[in-house]
Amino acid sequence: MEFTLIPDLVPQNRHAVIKVYVSRKWIFRGAMDNGPIHHIDLVLIDKEGHGICAEIPRNLAEEKGSIIEENKIYEISRFRISSARLMFKPVHMDKMIHFTYHTIINASLDTPPAFSRYVYHLTPFDQLESYIQKNEYFLDVLGVITQVSALKPVGTHTQESSNVIKEIIIKDINDITMRVTLWAERARAFKLENVYDPLEQKPIVTLFVGCLAKNFQGIYLNGGTACRWYFNPDIREAAPYYQRFESQKIKLHISSEQEQLYVTKETNVEHKTLHELLELHPYAFPKQGYQCTATIIEVPTTSRWWFPACTKCGRACKPQNGGYYCPYCKSEAYILRYKLTFMGSDGTATAQMFCFDTVAQHVVGRSCETVLKQVTEAAPIPPDLAQIVSLKFTFRVTVSNQTFSQREQRPTVLQINSIVAVHGRQRSLPKGIQTIIDQGPSTPNKEATLKLLKESPSTSMERLSTKLLTDVGRKLTYSTQAEDITKSQILDAPQETNADKEVPADKDKEIEPNLRSPPKRHKQEPLIIKDSTEPEHRQE
Ligand SMILES: [Zn+2]
Repeated sequence: MEFTLIPDLVPQNRHAVIKVYVSRKWIFRGAMDNGPIHHIDLVLIDKEGHGICAEIPRNLAEEKGSIIEENKIYEISRFRISSARLMFKPVHMDKMIHFTYHTIINASLDTPPAFSRYVYHLTPFDQLESYIQKNEYFLDVLGVITQVSALKPVGTHTQESSNVIKEIIIKDINDITMRVTLWAERARAFKLENVYDPLEQKPIVTLFVGCLAKNFQGIYLNGGTACRWYFNPDIREAAPYYQRFESQKIKLHISSEQEQLYVTKETNVEHKTLHELLELHPYAFPKQGYQCTATIIEVPTTSRWWFPACTKCGRACKPQNGGYYCPYCKSEAYILRYKLTFMGSDGTATAQMFCFDTVAQHVVGRSCETVLKQVTEAAPIPPDLAQIVSLKFTFRVTVSNQTFSQREQRPTVLQINSIVAVHGRQRSLPKGIQTIIDQGPSTPNKEATLKLLKESPSTSMERLSTKLLTDVGRKLTYSTQAEDITKSQILDAPQETNADKEVPADKDKEIEPNLRSPPKRHKQEPLIIKDSTEPEHRQE
């Protein structure tokens, strides 16, 4: 049988039959990964190595899409040929194939090894920037892996299922580095165990295909469902890499142990219900805390969810002259970080819980600065913050420090130290909630609440950014939150990765004075976001 080669396909030819290797297959859901199926995408390769994109429309996804598997060879006939689509082209080819009701797909019995496994069109690292948000093509890059992160759980704005990412740093032949962030199933699928020997430490040259250039605190490549990778590929462009890195060793931390933390439970930390936790004496909590699984049921508008942290030492800054000031560093440089409070429930009880910046970023899915920018006077609760309600997590918790200086024999607030598992958005909130923690002495009263809500300093942030600094006549009372913040300050030290931990007792003295006017900054310097390794927690 004579098969048509991909370059010879023309729209007029309805009788072409192709024999192709399915190099890639993924479900395209548009910008949102949890959106409805738009179509199934395929990258097909003929025996001469030409690639073409093929599309199975949504209505045929089940019937035709289920027949075709990645890494297999098929004979395909009765399809439609058109010009390539305008966006998200996986290959550089001006035509594409559409499957129709009539399309016939036959698995090929022979498996000629002559078929190329992949097609690619390399983009040099220094040109990637020009492709940010221009999604005409998926991008392909080649580099040597220098770092691989563990799986990290993420909460996202657009994603409702539990999600993880994995970050890979690669460098090119000129030692320019680039971050590749793999998402969800792609993150889980990325494994080096079979290709990397920790004793030999041989560098791994990797071809990544199907990425998109994004910008979040610098350019990075986003690897979603279309992304694939090929270790030590036998391609012309890789030859200089093999030559240059032949005698070198690259130590990679293959973090399968760390991943266990997210994949399975921490074995030495006991899991308890919220009801059980809230019955315990604060001193009965072990140092490592307990695990609990809770759904966020409410984000109280009463709590200030951010604080100004000194960029040098991470402590909470004090307001001064309309700006902020770190009395330790004598510095006015600060960044805004989370100290997020919410109500969590597991059906046995409801508990007030809080977390600092590192955990909160995972819960919210965005940096504190980003979320603060959404605040307006009309909408004081930013949408990104509101959307965390109904997200479910397994947390590792301890008793908040605040509890220990109070009279209560039970924890008033649970402090989240880490996220053990992400369970995603829940359709319904836990039933039969019995409120154990109510408005304790640490919770501001209703009136204060409304004031805070209405005149949150974040609105003054907003004003600042538009240079309207005049509105200082309003009253704000932060005293109740201020105590928490000062106690927490050291936890968010910029360099700390596990920042949300123990609080040194000597910091307790430092109490932020009551604010009588909205804090503002007199310097209009751009806000700095500290943790530059943090990816944007969304996939598009
Ligand atoms: Zn400082």
